[in-house]
Amino acid sequence: MDTRNTWNKWPDESGRFGEFGGRYVAETLMPLILDLEKEYEAAKADPEFEKLYRGLMQDYVGRPSAMYFAERLTEHFDGAKIYFKRDELNHTGSHKVNNCLGQVLLALRMGKTRIIAETGAGQHGVATATICARFGLPCTVFMGATDVERQKPNVFRMKLLGAEIVPVSSGTGTLKDAMNEALRDWVTNVHDTFYCIGTAAGPHPYPAMVRDFQSVIGREAKAQIMEREGRLPDVVMACIGGGSNAIGLFHPFLEDENVRMIGVEASGHGIETGEHAAALNGGEPGILHGNRTYLLQDGDGQIIDAHSISAGLDYPGIGPEHSFLKDTGRAEYLTCTDKEALDAFQLCTKLEGIIPALEPAHAIARVGDVARELGKDGLIIMNLCGRGDKDVFSVAGHLGIDID
Ligand SMILES: *Cc1c(COP(=O)(O)O)cnc(C)c1O
Repeated sequence: MDTRNTWNKWPDESGRFGEFGGRYVAETLMPLILDLEKEYEAAKADPEFEKLYRGLMQDYVGRPSAMYFAERLTEHFDGAKIYFKRDELNHTGSHKVNNCLGQVLLALRMGKTRIIAETGAGQHGVATATICARFGLPCTVFMGATDVERQKPNVFRMKLLGAEIVPVSSGTGTLKDAMNEALRDWVTNVHDTFYCIGTAAGPHPYPAMVRDFQSVIGREAKAQIMEREGRLPDVVMACIGGGSNAIGLFHPFLEDENVRMIGVEASGHGIETGEHAAALNGGEPGILHGNRTYLLQDGDGQIIDAHSISAGLDYPGIGPEHSFLKDTGRAEYLTCTDKEALDAFQLCTKLEGIIPALEPAHAIARVGDVARELGKDGLIIMNLCGRGDKDVFSVAGHLGIDID
């Protein structure tokens, strides 16, 4: 049996990763989804599209991002060598822009003249508004009313960039409600509107498309580690919200059987409290936002709001490919509490002089355990997917320090 392409063949023609993924959408949305899939396949095969994307990734986003040996953290944990893939150095401060740029270029190619997006903490909204400003495209961002209140600096940033913010007060006024509303807008305004989804979730082809745009992280990392260490890493690690930065790092390593992949979910106050965002470790399969995946739901199948100290991890679902990688055992998924992430945030800042976002701080908290388990001959690449400037006020608050 030819074992090559065992992993890379997913999703299948119906957009499924095993029993996960698919396209569970209203009849009215179906033609849009099929059209998007067709256009995306054509763009992927077009060298001109690739050239445009690569050029802007280099000159506007600032890629390739550095591969950095975290020497003092490695000494501190006294185990495997830890490298950071520094996607926090990208324009707008995280990996989100890799995907926004790809989707907006696709929208332009399709002749769409209006972009919509959902956002929770505002990071994806800011990245989308940034790319729209660059191309002079009108941008509408759906944001839960609760989040609009909680994330004022990002709301202001998006407005400066020229985006219109639509507060969504249905449900609990958070990310999942914003995403529902964006899907609704899309159906109504099909003719001119492109929906730019912020993570590797949603109906097919989004999970595969977002993964492909984010896979630049893993491709660069693979080439960089071969150059630095002359071998593949033992482990690649990343934090998980909807799973886009993690799948972007993991995907180019999927066929390398000896490379373990470890995702870190936010367990908030602890899985047992019910206040967490760990869809894989504390959820059940169900259907959310057009795909079948693990998600947080109650006995009646109602979606439960996620909780995490980190707004970017606060999503009750997870991209379907991760559900598949979990059930097949190809990837492992650990958890990290709010408290552990807060400690890791401070540790990384003090030892490396890098203030990480609270999201990757979850991965930093677990990287020590994995480094010790592997021992000194081991090699780990962790995706430092965002910078912490956006989090300093909230961290001060959690530490009981008044900086206003
Ligand atoms: C949005 C965000 C995440 C979570 O999204 P994924 O799709 O899981 O990557 C993680 N880290 C940062 C810095 C983010 O902005």
